[in-house]
Amino acid sequence: MSQLGILVSNDDGIFAPGLLALAGAMREFGRVTVIGPEENQSANGHRKTLTRPLRINETHLADGTLAYSTDGAPADCIAVAMLGFIKDPIDLVVSGINRGPNLGQDLTYSGTVAAAFEGAIHHKPSIAFSLNDRSLEADYSTAAEIARRIVRTVIKHGLPPLTLLNVNIPNLPLSQIAGMQITRQGTSVYRDELVPRIDPYGRPYYWIGGEAPTGDVNAEGTDMWAVYHGYVSITPIHLDMTVHTMIDTLKEWAFQ
Ligand code: MN
Repeated sequence: MSQLGILVSNDDGIFAPGLLALAGAMREFGRVTVIGPEENQSANGHRKTLTRPLRINETHLADGTLAYSTDGAPADCIAVAMLGFIKDPIDLVVSGINRGPNLGQDLTYSGTVAAAFEGAIHHKPSIAFSLNDRSLEADYSTAAEIARRIVRTVIKHGLPPLTLLNVNIPNLPLSQIAGMQITRQGTSVYRDELVPRIDPYGRPYYWIGGEAPTGDVNAEGTDMWAVYHGYVSITPIHLDMTVHTMIDTLKEWAFQ
């Protein structure tokens, strides 16, 4: 087991404390390679940079670990690593630990999850980890221990093709975590607001602002329900986004 190659990335930026915690937790499984975006790329989704070059710089995490930063998106980080920038074999891709949850439809925006999508596209077992705490002072120690336990289990079983795990961890001490739940995506409720401003030249510009999203925490079996009730949420996510149950219905519509 100690010869495994583990690729660690995130979307909060190469110097985010959650990345440091995750890289540290992965060390017992083998050779850890860290590559992340040089700046915060949260909510940047599954972006692939094709219209400009990508720069990769060598750097070090706060504990001295060698790391690489790119000026691309999280998925770019995984792509350049898998396409040959990292010479050693990679067996597993982990992303996070994100500052803030990735629940429900957040997955479609999440750079953390996008990095895991990219890992799955490159045929590697991939896991996204997020902590349900958006504060800059968030403590990642519980989440790192949970990540270690989950990775240990995934190494034992592997994951099916084009499948990743989306893991959300409550903001609780380890002793207060209620357990682990296998969940489905819940339904997010976004509270975004368009905030218009005027620039110094009199032209309007806009922010997408508003409160953080919520969701139905009472829908049992969902990611939101689990995290709200103190459980670690583990959701299997597939890259085949086809609504298989709608294929027969659409055939009956007789498009022409
Ligand atoms: Mn983030």
